[in-house]
Amino acid sequence: MGAREYTGRLAGLPTPFYFYDMDLLDRTLRTAGEEAARYGYKIHYALKANFDPRIMSAVRAAGFGVDCVSGNEVRAAVENGFPASEVVFAGVGKSDREIEYALSQGIFSFNCESREELEVIDAIAERMGKTARIALRINPDVDPKTHRHISTGKADNKFGISYTEIDEAIASLDRLRHIDIVGLHFHIGSQIRDMRVFERLCERVNAIKAWFAGRGIVLRHLNMGGGLGIDYDAPDAEPVPDFASYFAVFARCLETGPGQTVHFELGRSLVGQCGELIARVLYNKTTAAGSQVVILDAGMTDLIRPALYDARHGIENLTSQAAPQTYTVVGPICESSDTFAERIELPATSRGDLLAIRSAGAYGMAMASRYNLRELPGAVYSNEL
Ligand SMILES: *Cc1c(COP(=O)(O)O)cnc(C)c1O
Repeated sequence: MGAREYTGRLAGLPTPFYFYDMDLLDRTLRTAGEEAARYGYKIHYALKANFDPRIMSAVRAAGFGVDCVSGNEVRAAVENGFPASEVVFAGVGKSDREIEYALSQGIFSFNCESREELEVIDAIAERMGKTARIALRINPDVDPKTHRHISTGKADNKFGISYTEIDEAIASLDRLRHIDIVGLHFHIGSQIRDMRVFERLCERVNAIKAWFAGRGIVLRHLNMGGGLGIDYDAPDAEPVPDFASYFAVFARCLETGPGQTVHFELGRSLVGQCGELIARVLYNKTTAAGSQVVILDAGMTDLIRPALYDARHGIENLTSQAAPQTYTVVGPICESSDTFAERIELPATSRGDLLAIRSAGAYGMAMASRYNLRELPGAVYSNEL
């Protein structure tokens, strides 16, 4: 599966690089699109997961819009052929320049995250002679039961307008003549595998929606955010995430009114499984404590998730089929957090072997850095080999 099928053709290429299985990407996008279409749902791809131009064009070809979290992402989306009318723009700290740019492009909506931001967008829109379409990002206080660094919808997270401030936000709307409230936005976190979390989100949203309806506020759109997780432990068991179950939860639990459209912002689930980080073994060594360590030419600068979130990725040796041994797999960076996995089983591994770090298509290349003045990893696509 994945890079393993292409080992012969990958062997001579300079490492490290990301390998993208473009067939799997297309299958994933098609499945997500078909399952969403059953209910008339619209998907906006969360561009921050991976902004590789070929991935963007595959997403565009699938007919999805984009979810952006910076002005440069809005620009990248527009320059890569996404219609501005399908761009949503979220983020707790949008700068004036980013707001101006997005307004000038006429994006679908700003997901607005504080009372003060409403005032600022209104003032900028007034100055530009425009009206800004706004979805209020409400913090619904739902625990996504995921890693604390990627949990965004609990009462004390920085994201969204707290439900205790909604009253004041609504009271200010009469004064704000250059914004048009078109909907509500929610995004409670990432790598969520438990569908009951999304059920609880729907229940919360139903209550919040009713509250708005009681105040005579018509909401044309409900944006339920993203967050659907992938199977990092068994990528070959579930190469395409279970979009059918995911969208079915919303179809069953979310109450929608006539003409109300439902939007999603999926990132990880669309691109996570199609990418693998391919690295070469530089050295083997044994620590004083007796651990066998494999040192790769890829490190946390290429894939930071294990260092940042204690994330686990499957690791395979593409070269060796020898009997398994227990290894700790690390990168070359001067930090002990630069460790991909501890005490995992791999076939006996030696210098020059090619290793694949699986499920790295989302938040891999997008978070790569040049720390230690390293080169950024390359990219190789299955349909160009
Ligand atoms: C990151 C993000 C997403 C995508 O999250 P995934 O877990 O990758 O699906 C969606 N919406 C917003 C506002 C985000 O910040």
